[in-house]
Amino acid sequence: MRPAPLPPGATIGIVGGGQLGRMSALAAARLGYRCHILTPEADSPAAQVAAAATVAPYEDQEALARFADAVDVVTFEFENIPAESLALLAARKPTRPSPEVLRISQDRLLEKAFLNRIGVATAPWAELRDEAGLARAIAAIGTPAVLKTTRLGYDGKGQAMIRSPEDAAGAIARLHAGGPLVLEGFVDFACEVSVVVARGLDGAVAAFDVVENRHRHHILDLTLAPAAVAAETRAAALAAASKVAAGIGLEGLLALEMFVTRDGRVLANEIAPRPHNSGHWTIDACAVSQFEQHIRAVAGLPLGDPARHSDAIMKNLIGDDVLRWPAIVAQPGLIPHLYGKAEARPGRKMGHVTRLFPLGALPQGQEAETAFAPAIPPAAIRD
Ligand code: AMP
Repeated sequence: MRPAPLPPGATIGIVGGGQLGRMSALAAARLGYRCHILTPEADSPAAQVAAAATVAPYEDQEALARFADAVDVVTFEFENIPAESLALLAARKPTRPSPEVLRISQDRLLEKAFLNRIGVATAPWAELRDEAGLARAIAAIGTPAVLKTTRLGYDGKGQAMIRSPEDAAGAIARLHAGGPLVLEGFVDFACEVSVVVARGLDGAVAAFDVVENRHRHHILDLTLAPAAVAAETRAAALAAASKVAAGIGLEGLLALEMFVTRDGRVLANEIAPRPHNSGHWTIDACAVSQFEQHIRAVAGLPLGDPARHSDAIMKNLIGDDVLRWPAIVAQPGLIPHLYGKAEARPGRKMGHVTRLFPLGALPQGQEAETAFAPAIPPAAIRD
């Protein structure tokens, strides 16, 4: 039997104290829930807006038990927590998504094997452990290719480009992996897209539209909603995300990151089983945001309608970008979001800005880069 929905006033435990937890907690508060954050960080972005926080390392079993005892359901905004910690939480309280979902998404090899098993295409890939294995993988896949660690890689970290077989020398040592690695064929993509999809406790699946993601220095810079892709590509991306949500038995929300090839095919790259940076535009352009949808899913409420009332561009404020704050708040039409982080270190996500457009009127190509001017000059000027 399906569990009863969490009543208003119940407490949702969120593992992780970053901006994703902050925006989830804000959405939860609007639905009448309290949030309790587990994070090693004092004064975290999420704890600033939550009812309670446990500040402890993710390995602290005693603190984890206290946290679990204080909440009604556990979810995540940060998924790289140790398996033993996950098991402890799941033994005490309903944990959504389940530890099995996190286990698959934490490991690129399990993730790719899962995707291919359910019929979702990826770039060609091979597992390897040593120089000989790398030589075999290069012989099978060819170059260019990308060598990646299997765990804890994000924002392009833990990767080495292999342009020719000669590049292989020393590449394994440079990644400091100490475990299995994966070699992936390099995809000469037309663009990168993602889909944020939720699955409720009743098995209902709801996906937000396909968006295009543009990166700078390996960090998400702009998200364009919707992506300007062919109808068949859009349908394939939505179908892949829904297949992943159902196939992995999701209770919650995930993002599927994909490459669109120059001939319009979709290749899955990564599953993130939590709200995602490429879904921030939904706060302002949809009646139900990815954060509300996440909370609805883990609380056992019916999922909301993921339809968009406006098109949107989201821009991340990275590091010193946040110093443009006075100009951003002074410019009509820019919708600011700040994460409450005290120190603007290089590469750190400090906030984001959204601009809405009437449906069908999204600026395309390079024009999208100028959407936040003059408060934020286009990338070409800034670099
Ligand atoms: P990841 O850590 O797998 O999310 O990769 C980070 C970024 O590196 C992606 O968003 C792509 O821009 C690039 N990248 C990763 N894998 C590949 C690949 N196989 N082919 C081309 N670009 C890739």
